[in-house]
Amino acid sequence: MTIEPIDLLHGGARRVIASYLVESEDGLALVDCGPSSCLQALKDGLAARGVGVGDLRHLLLTHIHLDHAGAAGPLVREHPGLQVHVSEVGAPHLVDPSRLEASARRLYGEAFDALWGELSPVPAENVHAVAGRVLDLDCFPSPGHARHHVSYLHPDGTLFTGDSVGVRISPARFVLAPTPPPEIDLEAWRRTLEETERRGPARLALTHFGVFDDVQGHLARFRETLHVWAERVAHGMDEATFVAAARADCASSDPDEVDAYDRSAPYWQCFAGLQRYWCKRSEAAAS
Ligand SMILES: [Zn+2]
Repeated sequence: MTIEPIDLLHGGARRVIASYLVESEDGLALVDCGPSSCLQALKDGLAARGVGVGDLRHLLLTHIHLDHAGAAGPLVREHPGLQVHVSEVGAPHLVDPSRLEASARRLYGEAFDALWGELSPVPAENVHAVAGRVLDLDCFPSPGHARHHVSYLHPDGTLFTGDSVGVRISPARFVLAPTPPPEIDLEAWRRTLEETERRGPARLALTHFGVFDDVQGHLARFRETLHVWAERVAHGMDEATFVAAARADCASSDPDEVDAYDRSAPYWQCFAGLQRYWCKRSEAAAS
């Protein structure tokens, strides 16, 4: 099976959120399912591949942010045989999503419902905490974007990265550093990139958005963006200046895609997450 994104048409736009259908040693698996607001587009994308929700056996989640995992509850309600794999830290939030929903509602306010749709609990018996291998995929921790983030390496060499190696909107080249609040950890993220390289993936399958073969170049550009953006905030750049500089970085590489990147990882959120990271760092140093 060729691994290609199912476009979830988030907010009616193309190339914002992808889900991936893969063959595993135990039948069909979906890597990240997107939010409930995209459920119909997910079903349409599966149907175009001759697959129904009831044909899926496993759902592999990279992390529990709503753009990746929001539809897990409604999917399991519709198909109670679906087995959901997620990090140990993420698992309780699938079983009881109330805290996750409250914090997302604080961040998104009135836009929450239209953006993400319903959040509903996944029965505990469907939820499996990942460790090491999951089916025939190599699953490893990839913190940085979120503490509980994991990545999945398929035996064919495709690495499902979630948000761990940045955001890049196919076919563009620019690699954005998705650093939303509240859990950005730059030290952990550097180790994640080393772990990613050590595994020598043949290609990277990004949730936002698409499959890329130029692994070394991609990772180098991601490190560059992450470093430059973090330094700007560390040196006191304000939000408006940061957003303008980030848009200019994107435009210098891919002038037609500046807004496409903003749909997947809003520049203002990247600023907010880095600012929070540096505040926490200086509080820790002071105490
Ligand atoms: Zn994401």
